[in-house]
Amino acid sequence: MIPDFDPSALREITTLLSVPKKITIIPHAKPDGDAMGSSLGLYNYFIQKKHEVKVVSPTDYPDFLTWMKGNNNVIIHNNKSTNAADAIKDADIIFCLDFNAPDRVEKLEQDLIRSKAKKIMIDHHLSPANFCDFTFAFPESCATCEIIYHFIFQLDGKKYFNKAIAECLYAGIMTDTGSFRFPSMTADTHRVVAALIEAGVENSKVHELIFDNFSEDRLHFLGFCLKDRLVVLNEFNTAYISITKEEMNKYNHLAGDTEGIVNYGLGIKGIRFSAFFSEKDDLVKISFRSRGDFSAKEIAAEHFDGGGHKNAAGGKSETSLEETVGKFISLLPQYKEKLTE
Ligand code: 5GP
Ligand code: MN
Repeated sequence: MIPDFDPSALREITTLLSVPKKITIIPHAKPDGDAMGSSLGLYNYFIQKKHEVKVVSPTDYPDFLTWMKGNNNVIIHNNKSTNAADAIKDADIIFCLDFNAPDRVEKLEQDLIRSKAKKIMIDHHLSPANFCDFTFAFPESCATCEIIYHFIFQLDGKKYFNKAIAECLYAGIMTDTGSFRFPSMTADTHRVVAALIEAGVENSKVHELIFDNFSEDRLHFLGFCLKDRLVVLNEFNTAYISITKEEMNKYNHLAGDTEGIVNYGLGIKGIRFSAFFSEKDDLVKISFRSRGDFSAKEIAAEHFDGGGHKNAAGGKSETSLEETVGKFISLLPQYKEKLTE
């Protein structure tokens, strides 16, 4: 979709940006293709305009996202460094990209809330929290990268648009639309993608960089998940996979290795709801995917301290893996009607 930005907000932002500023761009923690693509896409636009631009990632992210231009300058927050906190504290303007609530930046939450910078949210999740000076939230958009494309053109981006920006934005749209197949992938979005290709994106190259860049261990790990850990509950049209920390270690787990595995459950005929549970050091991370009107976001938000989109959401649990999965199974009967209608 084409976002309808509030013209007066755009005018104010244009004025703010009319002189060089310290700009800090923050994606959500554990950034995905859309979060890194939108952050570095915007970065590659602003660096051409004499601003001092920093991208601060609240956590590390997968190797298959490190090819984007500007990646070497990303400040990755770790518990020791103050660089990330300083970049937030000292900024004139902070862009919050691909997230809608301050807790999505995890350990940088307080720094973000306290910063005196003008905060601008650009995002496509439901129910944005009220913590920014400007909130551009378009839940109907397939990806934050799609909104960033239009945002850049609403400023003076036509002059500055280049292949580096286009590659970043293409990556985000591709990953958030399941390679251009989700219902959110409208004709308008196809037109944006066409413009990105016209700007120089080699579409099959970007696809390979992201999807054909896993380790051999990850492929074996996927095999293990599907063969030994997939549980199908036909009565509830639901499938899930749960994985312990030890199992991930056995396959030399790297950041990003679990990404996308939740989608396999939905590939089974009739399945409308799929979940993936992975045990971390101090919590269990959960990914949810659903089909049609069944809301994965509702389950994530109401029961697992999370959120997201209707058909793709996530959450977490501080109880054990076994208890978390048990809670999930015990919830299903109350959703049986919606899952089987
Ligand atoms: P994924 O399953 O790929 O990690 O996340 C799917 C969607 O759910 C993404 O849009 C992501 O932003 C959202 N999401 C994932 N985990 C969380 C969470 O812990 N809290 C919230 N609010 N959203 C989440
Ligand atoms: Mn996104």
